[in-house]
Amino acid sequence: METDSKKQILLKNVNILDVDKGIFRNNQDILIEDNLIKEMGKDSHVGEESPMEIDCSQKFAIPGLFECHAHLAALTLQPDEIKKQILKEFVVKGIIQVRDVGGPVKTLKSMKDSISNREFIGPVIFYAGPMLEKGPLTWEEQNKILPGITVAINSKQDAKNIIQEISNEGSSLVKIFGKFDEDVIKYLLIEAKEHNLPVTIDPGDKLFHSIPMDLGIDLGIRCFEHGKAPWPVVLKDDLKAEHDNLISIKADPKDKQTFTEKILSLGIESISLTKLRQLIDKMLDHDVHFCPTLHVVKCMQMQEQKSKEPNKGELNKIKILDEINILFTREMIKQNVKILVGQDGVMPEFTFNEMELLKENGLSELEIIKGATIYPAQWLGIADQLGSISPNKKASILILNKNPLEGIQNMKTAHLVLQNGKIVFQE
Ligand SMILES: [Zn+2]
Repeated sequence: METDSKKQILLKNVNILDVDKGIFRNNQDILIEDNLIKEMGKDSHVGEESPMEIDCSQKFAIPGLFECHAHLAALTLQPDEIKKQILKEFVVKGIIQVRDVGGPVKTLKSMKDSISNREFIGPVIFYAGPMLEKGPLTWEEQNKILPGITVAINSKQDAKNIIQEISNEGSSLVKIFGKFDEDVIKYLLIEAKEHNLPVTIDPGDKLFHSIPMDLGIDLGIRCFEHGKAPWPVVLKDDLKAEHDNLISIKADPKDKQTFTEKILSLGIESISLTKLRQLIDKMLDHDVHFCPTLHVVKCMQMQEQKSKEPNKGELNKIKILDEINILFTREMIKQNVKILVGQDGVMPEFTFNEMELLKENGLSELEIIKGATIYPAQWLGIADQLGSISPNKKASILILNKNPLEGIQNMKTAHLVLQNGKIVFQE
């Protein structure tokens, strides 16, 4: 006889990470009912139905990971089988959620719907939809490949329309890229707030930002993408004056170019550490998150080196950009800014590469785990459902063979992965 009894799984004797306290609670049970964590503790209560028991002795349970900076729509340019294989790889490795920061909104909605209807396996996608910017669009060319990946917002009406549209299409956040008029961005931020959509920004150009970080924080933006983001705000006084002059007089693009070359040749010498620390203090005061995406710059470096005739000038520019990224990220790490783990790509293993780079630059294993679990959940406003292993949250759990607090490489020792209470990987 069919019953409407609920499906239960009991994970026995597992060490559970408490992300808030930063400790493992040893030899606990986790009772999962349907898609939720029902109970935790020693010898969890079991109902009349006997649950499916899985012995997890000596294993380590952490919340399912978020990749915080991906562009999954790019996968639709691949053959369908490759796309499905890569999406599956994410969850198999324990990356159960993705924060997608730019792609055509309908493409992402359809990918998310297919995954939730179990047409194929993949991460739960929290997407922004298009990258929004005042025209002319920096990535206009990309619209030929993925139509709708970037959309021009030139007026308050444009801002109102796009927020309404992406909200209707199931977006969970807003991604701003590059140029914006201040009155339009202010209006857009109000609209986004009304639709409960947090906003993140990639300020765009290396040095000329229409919304520099300090202004962005004042306007209410609570996340910044890419290590280089602080650069124009923290230039030494004389360079900053020169920069501001070029920005204010609608300068000749050639003069801007010359200035950029000069700053690039100065590299970290262009930076005032005092100003950087002041900016970081401001970030801390306003609970601002930072997603450095260090790995993507390493990829750029490797690509250039591998090319038939590596361009020395280009290589040098990438090297300086890398040094700047690292300097800013290290300072933020030292001062305890909330760092998000994001790779700026579509390859599951790159998330772990990003973790290793963050570790090399001073971020502790615990903070790396938080940056891939509770911080993105809080930032997205979904910490009541995800981000930690707690009763009544979604049963999205990664069980590891080795303790990840003892070495970040242990994140790659997946033993069992549950997504919304379903086993999606078992060793
Ligand atoms: Zn990106």
